[in-house]
Amino acid sequence: MMRLPPFQYLAPVSVPDAVKLMADHGPEAMLVAGGTDLYPNMKRRQFEPTVLVGLRGVRDLVGVRQPAAGALAIGAGTTLTTVARHPEVRARYAALATAAGAVSTPQLRNMGTLGGNVCVDTRCNYYNQSYQWRKAVDFCMKKDGEICLVAPGSPRCWAVSSSDTAPALWSLGASVRLAGPSGERTIPISALYQDDGIQYLTKQPGDIVTEIVLPPAHGARSIYLKLRRRGSFDFPVLGVAATLHLDGEIVRQARIVLGAVASLPRESVQAARLLVGERLTPELIDRAADAAYRPAKPLDNTDLTHPYRKKMVRVYVARALRRLAGLPDEAEA
Ligand SMILES: Cc1cc2nc3c(=O)[nH]c(=O)nc-3n(C[C@H](O)[C@H](O)[C@H](O)COP(=O)(O)OP(=O)(O)OC[C@H]3O[C@@H](n4cnc5c(N)ncnc54)[C@H](O)[C@@H]3O)c2cc1C
Ligand code: SF4
Repeated sequence: MMRLPPFQYLAPVSVPDAVKLMADHGPEAMLVAGGTDLYPNMKRRQFEPTVLVGLRGVRDLVGVRQPAAGALAIGAGTTLTTVARHPEVRARYAALATAAGAVSTPQLRNMGTLGGNVCVDTRCNYYNQSYQWRKAVDFCMKKDGEICLVAPGSPRCWAVSSSDTAPALWSLGASVRLAGPSGERTIPISALYQDDGIQYLTKQPGDIVTEIVLPPAHGARSIYLKLRRRGSFDFPVLGVAATLHLDGEIVRQARIVLGAVASLPRESVQAARLLVGERLTPELIDRAADAAYRPAKPLDNTDLTHPYRKKMVRVYVARALRRLAGLPDEAEA
């Protein structure tokens, strides 16, 4: 049985207190919300903080509010179950409701938070293993080792962004509110991520995600599709989020974002560009799916084979767009 290492747990009740505690304890400290990712990772010694700053007592981080006409702000400490079931989220931001409801299992969604999900660690077959397993292969550069075991000549880590909600929020044009030692700031969620399996977030470790803000939906249609081995449980090995603003039958705005194909959610700008100003015909959908598929380069470091995962990019993007267009799935067509 894997046990947690000893650590000190601090329980602030406000965001400024949490920011101060993180600053006081520096690199020894980590934030924890639901703990559904961090605690298993600590048991495997992937993280070894001696201090945890727990966010569960910070009431300001919990809840859904409507700050400006049509927008929706979700506190980072809101559970995934709440997000998935919230009537406004379901009505206006279907991709997010689906993605939150597809994370892991009901028990973990009751504990896991939206903030924890957007900050969740990247994953790799050579890293998400026990300490003894990792030691047996002499570790890798993401923790305790020198080289990348997937691409030994590579100077960087290719661990995979595996959040379900991140691509959905990106496709919906969400922003993230951060609080840190130098104050508060709001950035597009796309700016929270960078293409590095180790430093996959651009924020400083002491910065707290306080809120995720969704812009007015203006009638946009959105969808999230997830590929995984076991439908009841697993992390995504591919996530496809698409949001379309339609004017009658014409696409006015489109954003397609892929999850689990790189160290960050990957926007398919070219595929979306093909759609704008056009009617969503089956032929156009196939061309857009092809444009999303070509640059997608999943590596051989998560579940299922990477050539299969690449092929499924085309299938899932086409399926997502067909569903948004009200067309039958390809198998039924
Ligand atoms: C068996 C299993 C299956 C899983 N399946 C999935 C899945 O299908 N899809 C998926 O996306 N995830 C999955 N997860 C991972 C995890 O359960 C979710 O990502 C969950 O949403 C994490 O939220 P949390 O509140 O528990 O985060 P925590 O574990 O508390 O924290 C995760 C990370 O986020 C940081 N953090 C937390 N809150 C904040 C904040 N407000 N500001 C800044 N940093 C913060 C922590 O420091 C930590 O680095 C799975 C986990 C397990 C154990
Ligand atoms: S991609 Fe390479 S460095 Fe990163 S976790 Fe996997 S084996 Fe380690």
